[in-house]
Amino acid sequence: MTEKPILIVGAGISGLSVARLLGKHGVTCIVFEQSTPDKSQGYAITVRDWAFEPLLSEIGGIPVKDFQKGVAVDRELGGTGWVDLTFRDNGTGETLFNPEQSRTNNKASLFRANRGVLRDWLGDGVDIRYGHKLKAVKGRPGNVKAVFENNDEVEGSMLIAADGVHSSVRQFLLPHVHVQTPPVILFHGKRRMTVSEWRELWITHIGESTIGAGVGDDFNTFVTVANATNDGSIDLDWTYSRTRAGEGDPLWMPDRGEIMKAPQHLLKEIRSKDLVPPFSTLVNADDIKKSKVYNWRIWALQVQRKELDKAAESGVVFIGDAVHAMPIFGGEGGNHAMLDAVELGAIITKGKTDLSDIEVAEIVRNFYDGAYQRGQGAVKRCLQRFSQFHQPISGWKKVAEMATKREAGSGDREGN
Ligand SMILES: Cc1cc2nc3c(=O)[nH]c(=O)nc-3n(C[C@H](O)[C@H](O)[C@H](O)COP(=O)(O)OP(=O)(O)OC[C@H]3O[C@@H](n4cnc5c(N)ncnc54)[C@H](O)[C@@H]3O)c2cc1C
Repeated sequence: MTEKPILIVGAGISGLSVARLLGKHGVTCIVFEQSTPDKSQGYAITVRDWAFEPLLSEIGGIPVKDFQKGVAVDRELGGTGWVDLTFRDNGTGETLFNPEQSRTNNKASLFRANRGVLRDWLGDGVDIRYGHKLKAVKGRPGNVKAVFENNDEVEGSMLIAADGVHSSVRQFLLPHVHVQTPPVILFHGKRRMTVSEWRELWITHIGESTIGAGVGDDFNTFVTVANATNDGSIDLDWTYSRTRAGEGDPLWMPDRGEIMKAPQHLLKEIRSKDLVPPFSTLVNADDIKKSKVYNWRIWALQVQRKELDKAAESGVVFIGDAVHAMPIFGGEGGNHAMLDAVELGAIITKGKTDLSDIEVAEIVRNFYDGAYQRGQGAVKRCLQRFSQFHQPISGWKKVAEMATKREAGSGDREGN
């Protein structure tokens, strides 16, 4: 028997969720994070009820409204991160269809949270050791040793690898598992304006929603509120994306750094598009030229169960993007990260806090028996959805027609 803490590598959504939950149940755990506390991950993500409700329940029955007040992108303006995902033609403003409703039975089924703020919220009361970049894992279930680049070595009963898509733990234990890079170009940028400027630009076109989804002829423009503060300013994000156009695509730059001066080809391409507001204002070449842009890569990660079972022999369990990274357009990765934490936490806290080698092996096996298919299924689904995400505007119009027919059909059925 051991009385060692559970070691969690990575203070992202998955690592902090599981740490918060374990702490709530009196299980000692330590989170090790490579970066410093000030590192910002301040973009917006869509969080969903099937993930946040079980998490809120497990960490102490926190009401959804309090969670929204704590993490919604527009919380400081009194907002709740309201989402209307209606897809609009970014060349005419015409509304096409809404792939999902944001409110069912009078409750929020999804809303926009600021990822950095969500991490701070989750990390409340958690023992986080910053500046700890993991470089090696040794040992076996019940007796694991994490070795860090700053030469710290810490022993624990098991290690939860929550260190994201480029997981060091995975690279160390399963070096032949590689991430895929689907062929998409995605540029992202930021824009700050006053709240009144934003309202003027936004409300007539997008309404109260904190995200505006614009689709065009084989390219998309999404605009979103990243964070609003009560000092009267608001940070907005824009993305411009399309499928990679063959081998010689000048905007396919997987080896370039993430932050760069806007490439001339990007500016030229954006200028060639005929956008309507608010897309024309935010995805605007003249403004983009003046600041840096992010060349965002899209990742996908699928791992075979037998590989995970092999890593489990070292007392390691993977959660979040470290085991199932999915293209961001599906809007699911962070939610599966939370759900992994809930499911793993529930299995750990069911037993004793002193974990023997056999108990650790059983915990890991039980966790994967439940969560593995869900996570890997989501990667597959997001990859499929992703392949239809950029299409000619005629294709989007057909999708819209089909959605209208479906709605009319379900209305008829309900009427009968
Ligand atoms: C632009 C964008 C938009 C997105 N939109 C959505 C959305 O709308 N909805 C949604 O559900 N998901 C969305 N996602 C995905 C979501 O953000 C991720 O799925 C989620 O953050 C994964 O959480 P994680 O804890 O597994 O990994 P991460 O958040 O990546 O956290 C991993 C942590 O581990 C640390 N780390 C890495 N290596 C080491 C090491 N060697 N030692 C110590 N620490 C280490 C990292 O610094 C990091 O803090 C989006 C992602 C992006 C990039």
